[in-house]
Amino acid sequence: MTLDLFNNLDHEKDDNQKNKIGQTNIQYISSASILTEAKGFMEAYDFTLNPYSGCSFGCNYCYAAFFSRSPEERESWGAWLKVKENALQLLMKWRRKPLINKTIYISSVTDPYQPIEKHLELTRGILKELLNYHRPRIVIQTRSQLVTRDIDLLQQFDAVQVNMTVTTDSEDVRKAFEPYCPSNSSRLKAIKEVTEAGIQTCITMTPLLPIQDAKSFTQELLNTGVEKFIVQPFHPDKGKFVASTREAALQQMKKMNWNNNNYLEVVEIFKKELPWLGEGKQGFAPI
Ligand code: SF4
Repeated sequence: MTLDLFNNLDHEKDDNQKNKIGQTNIQYISSASILTEAKGFMEAYDFTLNPYSGCSFGCNYCYAAFFSRSPEERESWGAWLKVKENALQLLMKWRRKPLINKTIYISSVTDPYQPIEKHLELTRGILKELLNYHRPRIVIQTRSQLVTRDIDLLQQFDAVQVNMTVTTDSEDVRKAFEPYCPSNSSRLKAIKEVTEAGIQTCITMTPLLPIQDAKSFTQELLNTGVEKFIVQPFHPDKGKFVASTREAALQQMKKMNWNNNNYLEVVEIFKKELPWLGEGKQGFAPI
């Protein structure tokens, strides 16, 4: 079965749009597998599913950079993205062994709603396949408003949660750490829309970056209608998994003079005001 990922591309723009979006060069690869047995931080899930490798959002603190295949890719995290163009065919092979009730985390080392996803609809195709043939329990992890496009599919799952990452209330801070990501306000607006569509949602402040005004930020979070939140501190430690991109984040954090005491003060306010607050790994347990 041949699936044309480019059906959705405007062919008048075609090649440029296929191969580069913003600062990101895009490659199309044939992947060996699409579902990975979940381990480590995600071990409470059965599988993780990453339709893409790399990430156009290129957050400068991103731990996923460590999983790059080469030091060059690690150094240039954000400047490359690989589309697993056979992702859907790989998933179709699982029809022989349906994933009913399995827990799947989408995605652990990329964002399933990359800017190119708007044209390729690769994640959307995967959701359709999961819905029609497997009906697993899924958690979507994103920081893109594009997730609202798939509300119609998400509403049909028996068990689904959409996690939206929002790391700060300040656009200046966001631009310093996540310059290629959607704005804070667009993420809050998107998760409000998903919540209002009757889908279970969660806001993940992971990692929590410097906050300008914790009280008004808490109010903004509550205004989305979301009832579940997860927070995790920025890890300043330089472990062996540190990719060079994180150095920029460390420097930025130092410049902003933000430390663990600041984090704890904000978390105290969250604990008082937010209906449910999970911390770290436990917060990410499957639905
Ligand atoms: S969106 Fe997620 S995967 Fe992508 S760079 Fe940021 S933290 Fe990493």
